[in-house]
Amino acid sequence: MEQKNLYKILGVSEKAGGDEIKKRYRELAKKYHPDKNRGNKQAEEKFKEISEAADILTDEEKRKQYDQMRQFAGAGFGGRGGFDPRNFRQGGRRGFGGFGDIFSTIFGDGFGAEPASGNIPRKGNDISGKLSVTFDEAITGTKKTISINGPQSCPACNGSGAEPSSQTTTCPDCGGAGQISQELGGFAINRTCPRCMGRGRLVGKPCTACNGTGTVRQKRKLAITVPAGIEDGGQIRLRGQGAPGSGGAPAGDLILTVQVGADRHFQRRGRDVYSTEEINLAQALLGTKIKVRTLEGHAALKIPPGTANGTVMRLKKLGAKMNGTRGDHLVTINVELPTNLSTEERQAIKKLARSRGWEL
Ligand SMILES: [Zn+2]
Ligand SMILES: [Zn+2]
Repeated sequence: MEQKNLYKILGVSEKAGGDEIKKRYRELAKKYHPDKNRGNKQAEEKFKEISEAADILTDEEKRKQYDQMRQFAGAGFGGRGGFDPRNFRQGGRRGFGGFGDIFSTIFGDGFGAEPASGNIPRKGNDISGKLSVTFDEAITGTKKTISINGPQSCPACNGSGAEPSSQTTTCPDCGGAGQISQELGGFAINRTCPRCMGRGRLVGKPCTACNGTGTVRQKRKLAITVPAGIEDGGQIRLRGQGAPGSGGAPAGDLILTVQVGADRHFQRRGRDVYSTEEINLAQALLGTKIKVRTLEGHAALKIPPGTANGTVMRLKKLGAKMNGTRGDHLVTINVELPTNLSTEERQAIKKLARSRGWEL
């Protein structure tokens, strides 16, 4: 069966840009348009062919898939690695349906997994999700339970799709490949074998728990340990909790990106914690001792005489603990200045200024 090269059909190079391909398509479409070639079967076929080729090559996503498919099939674009233009019509749904949709309702942006197909062992895709924790939970570490509603390898049959007691046989229609070749509209295509649904094997008795599909969609709960000190954007990887693999290969991982909530008093950068404390002018000039709110209650902080506004003071080892090491707590000192001085107060300050020789 002949495999077609879409680039050759349009007469463009494989490096041709989108505009060039569109221009070339318009030229060819004009030439072979059925209105201009009434009764000409060959022109009709050609028109169909160039339209199909343009449909794929002018769509960035479809073109990428097509190029990958060709690469996969080898330099000659022959052999078994056929390609089915019809797959592209539902491409989006195939790639991103199922798992992804359900997952995203829980996590916000889970991305889809390829459905398990054929009997080629392939590790399941990694799935990403989000996990929100409060500022305090991130400091101390916490345990969270999340529930996932997505496909997982059927526990009753271990993902084989067969009732544990029954025998499986190689599918006679596809010889175990899970794909069959067919000719459609001049294209040699491979499509999923309808008899075995791409599994390559026929089960004597399908597993009742999963109807023979090997995967079940099940709500399951996952306990997650959030380590102390995790930062905003930090990731937690749960091995084997992603999309189920095919052909007996392991499942992918679930990767949770942690979103740490803000705190009204503290900020964090790595292990260090930041806060701001206010002192008055007299305290700034004369020096004092203040009580600073820390992650664990309060700590005393000595303010030396003549502390300027914006001075940063360090409380060692009172920051966040991460992997056994503790950061510092950095306190920015804000000196509050009064704006509503009384006449006597103004006189007092002027007296101070004269005595210091300050310019007024
Ligand atoms: Zn099962
Ligand atoms: Zn089959």
